[in-house]
Amino acid sequence: MRPLTVGDVTVEAVVEVSGPRIPAAMLLPAAERTEIEAHIPWMTPDLYVPATHMFSMVRQAYVVRTAHHTILIDTCVGEHKDRTNERFRLTETPWPANFNALAITYDDIDIVMCTHLHVDHVGWNTRLEDGRWVPTFPNARYLFGKTEMETYRAAIAEAPDPDGPIYADSILPVIEAGQAEIVADDFELSDGLWFEMTPGHTEGHICIHLQNTGGHAVFSGDLMHHPIQVREPQWNSCFCGDDAQARITRRSFLEQHADTDTLIVPSHFERGTVGRLESLADGFTFNFRDGGSTHAPPG
Ligand SMILES: [Zn+2]
Repeated sequence: MRPLTVGDVTVEAVVEVSGPRIPAAMLLPAAERTEIEAHIPWMTPDLYVPATHMFSMVRQAYVVRTAHHTILIDTCVGEHKDRTNERFRLTETPWPANFNALAITYDDIDIVMCTHLHVDHVGWNTRLEDGRWVPTFPNARYLFGKTEMETYRAAIAEAPDPDGPIYADSILPVIEAGQAEIVADDFELSDGLWFEMTPGHTEGHICIHLQNTGGHAVFSGDLMHHPIQVREPQWNSCFCGDDAQARITRRSFLEQHADTDTLIVPSHFERGTVGRLESLADGFTFNFRDGGSTHAPPG
């Protein structure tokens, strides 16, 4: 993703992994292969591989620099974590090098925010040091939405997280270090940043708004995993917790931001990630900032 500027705020991505990496039939269980293939003209070559029926998706964190803060939004999978899924387990990735390439250090991050508490959004909250999990960012306040934290804790009290000991290795060490703050679901930070609860994918999933005189951007987390869901908003990902609510929230998000200047910054979209929503006669389309859209091929 090219850096994004909104007024005096800059946004840069720190990529952990990208490219074709998830079977389309797995990501979108409700979609028939022929229904997905109907979108090939605008998806190839960078969003879908027809021969293998794989979607390309990026996994990335965002560094947001304002006049007062250096913020990290969503912290990917991290390293050395005990995870059920082979793709997430005990990984080592270029993420630290990509972070350092922005000429900042872990000490510079003063706020961490997670759109939700799934495995690929909390990993770099902590890192392994002398056999112990410690906060990766020693000077940061980690802000967690109240509903997401409460519902996640209630769920793992009932049964362990099927993805692995995420709470124990990526959240609890932050709390024990005194760096966690549970904040309201509509929390407002300075510098034009605020939370909006957008439930469905998880019960307390939040979008993070950034607005100032220079414009409006929304970090939309996992409301949509792949741009095809802009055209087919009824298709939930296999990771959505509440299917009916996820569809309602996705559709209302599309209606709210279509035909506005709002820049949408989803977690996992390839092709430069950032774009604007537009309404069409038959639904919605995503116009990528760097060219191409979900109704026309790139270039
Ligand atoms: Zn995700």
